[in-house]
Amino acid sequence: MTKVRTRFAPSPTGRMHVGNLRTALYEFLIAKHAGGDFILRIEDTDRERLVEGAVDIIYRTMAETGLVHDEGPDKDKGFGPYVQSERQASGLYLEYAKKLIESGDAYYCFCDKERLESLKTSVGEDGKEITVYDKHCLHLSKEEIQANLDAGKPYVIRINMPTEGTTTFVDELYGEITVENKELDDMILIKSDGYPTYNFANVVDDHLQQITHVVRGNEYISSSPKYQRLYEAFGWEPPKYVHLPLITDENHKKLSKRSGHASYEDLIEQGFLPEAVVNYLALLGWSPEDNREIFSLDELIKEFDYHKVNKSPSVFDIQKLKWMNGEY
Ligand code: GLU
Ligand code: ZN
Repeated sequence: MTKVRTRFAPSPTGRMHVGNLRTALYEFLIAKHAGGDFILRIEDTDRERLVEGAVDIIYRTMAETGLVHDEGPDKDKGFGPYVQSERQASGLYLEYAKKLIESGDAYYCFCDKERLESLKTSVGEDGKEITVYDKHCLHLSKEEIQANLDAGKPYVIRINMPTEGTTTFVDELYGEITVENKELDDMILIKSDGYPTYNFANVVDDHLQQITHVVRGNEYISSSPKYQRLYEAFGWEPPKYVHLPLITDENHKKLSKRSGHASYEDLIEQGFLPEAVVNYLALLGWSPEDNREIFSLDELIKEFDYHKVNKSPSVFDIQKLKWMNGEY
């Protein structure tokens, strides 16, 4: 049997949202319940979204809540986490993107801003604008590509999505989910600054780090077919996916900053104990057999079963957390 390996892969963009902490907790519990490994991976390749101090917030939160990772790239540093910007420096992601270019599953795109601007279309009820790329650069000849590269023209690398057929992935809670390939656009894998996109680095690292279970918020369900295409193009086995329901406020709106308790730091500042927060988040989306409510982290490890995660949205109830806090 393959060893269970999970990861928490936060992007350092600010405070630790309780939804992210719940994801981290479930990943940790899945690994520990099965006697497996839990790793921490900092996803910092989106250089524009980085927030100073956010990495420290992640470390502190993990340490305070007891969600300790098992390995890292550097033993001497006490197993610090994997950091994507450090991995990027070795050319790792570009190397994998080039493999896909060779197999015809990806291609260089030299389109400039103006051209991409002209491809913008509005979608959805809110008229949100997206760029649906028209595969223009897929048809460049080898000579044209080489000439552009030699001239130092900026480029991105895009996946070559099939225009026909369907792509199916499996979620552990929702079952098989299938989409039409023509709805998947040729997303960018390597950006013009040389950094991989989150979408690409995430898949490459999950594979290289032998991750067996990926826990994510529901908002990633629509991206999963794209990841599936990458796994297929590489000929890799995808992990098991567990998509978690949204955490909402009392008004059934996505729990936002405005609520005043959307992040772990907010809760600690209000005097909640890390143990109580962990206990509360464990039950926010998962119910044990016997409706018991007070659990230590060790007890959670014993009892947690991801097959019993709820599919309906979880309402964050600060009164309930206050009650739990009193029990500690
Ligand atoms: N870096 C992504 C985030 O913080 C990770 C999502 C995932 O778990 O794959 O949202
Ligand atoms: Zn192009």
